[in-house]
Amino acid sequence: MAQATLWRNGRIFTGRRYVEAVAAENGRVVAVGSSREVRAHSPSGAERVDLHGRLTVPGLADSHLHLTELARLTAGVDLHGARSLAEVGRRVRRWGERHPEGSVYGAGWDQDLLRDRRYPTSRDVARWVGDRPTVLFRVCHHAVVVSDSVLTEIDVDEDTPDPPGGRIGRGRNGRANGLLFDNAIERLGPWGERRFVRHPLGLAELLQNAANLGLTSLGPVSSSPEELAALASFGRRRLPVRIAAFLRGTEVERFRALQRSTRTESTRLVGVKVVSDGAFGPRTAWLDRPYRDERATSGFPLLTRSELERVAMEADRVGASLAVHAIGDRAIATALDVFEAVRPRRRPRIEHASLTPPGLLDRLGKVRPLLVVQPRFVTSDSWIVERLGPRRARWTYSFATFHARGHRPAASSDAPVEPLDPWTGIAAAIAERRTGVAESVDAPTALRMYGENAAPVLGTPGIGSLEPGSFADVVECDGNDLDRVARAGNSQVLRVWREGIRVDSGRPAGEG
Ligand SMILES: [Zn+2]
Repeated sequence: MAQATLWRNGRIFTGRRYVEAVAAENGRVVAVGSSREVRAHSPSGAERVDLHGRLTVPGLADSHLHLTELARLTAGVDLHGARSLAEVGRRVRRWGERHPEGSVYGAGWDQDLLRDRRYPTSRDVARWVGDRPTVLFRVCHHAVVVSDSVLTEIDVDEDTPDPPGGRIGRGRNGRANGLLFDNAIERLGPWGERRFVRHPLGLAELLQNAANLGLTSLGPVSSSPEELAALASFGRRRLPVRIAAFLRGTEVERFRALQRSTRTESTRLVGVKVVSDGAFGPRTAWLDRPYRDERATSGFPLLTRSELERVAMEADRVGASLAVHAIGDRAIATALDVFEAVRPRRRPRIEHASLTPPGLLDRLGKVRPLLVVQPRFVTSDSWIVERLGPRRARWTYSFATFHARGHRPAASSDAPVEPLDPWTGIAAAIAERRTGVAESVDAPTALRMYGENAAPVLGTPGIGSLEPGSFADVVECDGNDLDRVARAGNSQVLRVWREGIRVDSGRPAGEG
């Protein structure tokens, strides 16, 4: 018999309007309306769910997150929010004592939040954990500090030149000081995989946690073949979330083979992602004009225009959607140049699209890439005015302007850069900004950024909506007012269904 469900007596936001009831059959919505209307249309034998007047919304989608890094961070040291190097040191040391074997992995520090106002170096690391192999990522993952033992293992010394699109941090004496920026981090590649492969990925737990937060679709980006294999290892077992993954761009030649070998009931490989510049935090996002608080640099590209063009053409040839990380205005403009030159058949994505001055907005309007933004960055990048100056800071994270110009940006956490909990992002998207910039959106718009706007971005029509034909991904919230639930700033989720099947673990949802 067909699997059918009838949710009734709710305050159900379909993505467009409020209804009382939704009926689903075989995972898809078949009827919406008043409880009485829908009961008349719902299949006999449907399971009935009383929503008790509660706010109920379409399953949420996170269009850009890093699964392996998130899983690793769950196992490693969390350095988010640390206010001094001493505090970073305390957390690292405490973790090291509890895990006396092997290497130390952590992420989340931000030198601008540290009272010391400087980057940690390998000398700090040595004071904290001696000579243990240690890798501590900056919050944005575009900079990392490693121990001297790691520098030795990856063959970095004073004679090692900076790679194209990357920088090796050096002390006054010219010696490497443990910091690696952007492409220089690639030196960790194989070493990192070997070292950290021992940390349990904890994928199943992570995906369950996502579902408990109301997420029913995830878009992992920069997925490695190892990550895809880990997802594929679930085989026919149904996951609580559906996954549309983007392979890291350096593996584009393997796209088709991996697409075939890793497809499961819940997981599909849909595209490739490349990183075209850095981030504002370490001043490596590629700008038209220099940083306000470091005039000597405008950031830099991580790959040349011709390299970007080559990946774009190859992605198009193998049937992959293309996602390009571009934060600075120069990087975004270059990505648009490439999209215009290559004209990919699938609409390409720009990840972040953080700095968009008026002229660039006009070009975005012409080229019309899909945009994937991170509302939480608004809260976290508290130093944005210092970095860019007040004029350019006004042109960052232009969510309301994007909407006004007809774009439908999809939202994401970029976890572990920001917490996985989408409700923290929804609250950030609707909050007034400290900089006084009027770029906040209303609660229904914020919900659509985590809903139907993700459908083209993840190549998955039918997500993020509870209109007939959509997936029956249903999230019951603890409350009856969308605005109040959206402003809460953390998960208010009670029950979650994916394609009509209950997927939350029935326990209160925790932090990602
Ligand atoms: Zn990212």
